[in-house]
Amino acid sequence: MKHIILTGDRPTGKLHIGHYVGSLRRRVELQNSGDYDKIYIMIADAQALTDNFGEPEKVRANITEVALDYLACGIDPARATVFVQSYVSELTELTFYYMNLVTLSRLERNPTVKAEIRQKNFELSLPMGFLTYPVSQTADITAFRADTVPVGEDQLPMLEQAREIVRSFNGLYGETLTEPKAVLPENKSCLRLPGTDGMAKMSKSLGNCIYLSDSADEIKRKVMGMYTDPNHLKVSDPGNTKDNPTFIYLDAFCTDEHFKRYLPEYADLDEMKAHYERGGLGDMKVKKFLNAVLQEVLEPIRARREEFAKDIPAVWDILYKGSVEARKVAAETLSDVRKAMKIDYFADREGR
Ligand code: ATP
Ligand code: MG
Repeated sequence: MKHIILTGDRPTGKLHIGHYVGSLRRRVELQNSGDYDKIYIMIADAQALTDNFGEPEKVRANITEVALDYLACGIDPARATVFVQSYVSELTELTFYYMNLVTLSRLERNPTVKAEIRQKNFELSLPMGFLTYPVSQTADITAFRADTVPVGEDQLPMLEQAREIVRSFNGLYGETLTEPKAVLPENKSCLRLPGTDGMAKMSKSLGNCIYLSDSADEIKRKVMGMYTDPNHLKVSDPGNTKDNPTFIYLDAFCTDEHFKRYLPEYADLDEMKAHYERGGLGDMKVKKFLNAVLQEVLEPIRARREEFAKDIPAVWDILYKGSVEARKVAAETLSDVRKAMKIDYFADREGR
């Protein structure tokens, strides 16, 4: 069997370090591993419009930003197909057929969608498009016959929904679609990186992000202003490292090499955590170290981003080429779907 990856991001803002550790870093590793026959990376503009339908300019502008973030992190258009979702109109048709295979109550039970509805104050007037976005995500995944979807933890309910729709489709119409599986980050702290404000998830929509494109000064300002353990008032107080975003970020980013370079008094993060937990280690020192680590990781990404940003038309050429290729692949799957559903009435007349 071929191994195919599909992943994507909503162009609702620039990408942040939560995206990086939750999915982007892994994608680049998988891309470079040579273990996959195809890698599709989708900028999900149609999905972004389900809750940003009043702000098409914002979505449009962020397509460029997200594409720059990809290139900056090492996504290579020679090895991965980067495309814009709305160009592939076949995805909308697949969504329409898949909608028959899922009930309203099933969609309403999706815990990630439920949390997002609350967060966006959609309780009283919920756009249908927003509620059904997990179905369109199933179309995105299955159109490319993806078996592997590298995502953060919040996407697990979407993958479960996709698997249910695939099973139901294959059961009714015969084996046609591929069942996908999620690939989560191995490091637990990366499953759902919290915000700088201590909120459960760093999210473009919550304004608690460190962006991959932030300047050195912005990174420093954000790190120095981070939420820590509210009960760790004096340096000598015992502190909590578990729900403390500064330590969670260190879990996600720092290596023993960073300690050698910036804080040689500790051999590794475990030693530093033990000191904080028994008392005697101040937040300022932790933040200074975290800042040094993040500056080191983000500096080369920012520099590459600035290079790619000098030629925006070239970035759109990459997106166009990827979108044309993606559309061809999705059309083949759609044709199989139509055949399976016995609605391929004119296929022979059209030589398909
Ligand atoms: P929005 O608020 O518009 O939904 P978002 O920040 O949640 O934006 P998405 O585009 O929805 O970002 O998610 C893209 C990918 O990044 C998904 O695989 C998601 O699981 C992952 N991701 C997003 N935020 C985080 C986070 N804080 N930690 C780990 N992974 C994340
Ligand atoms: Mg999201």
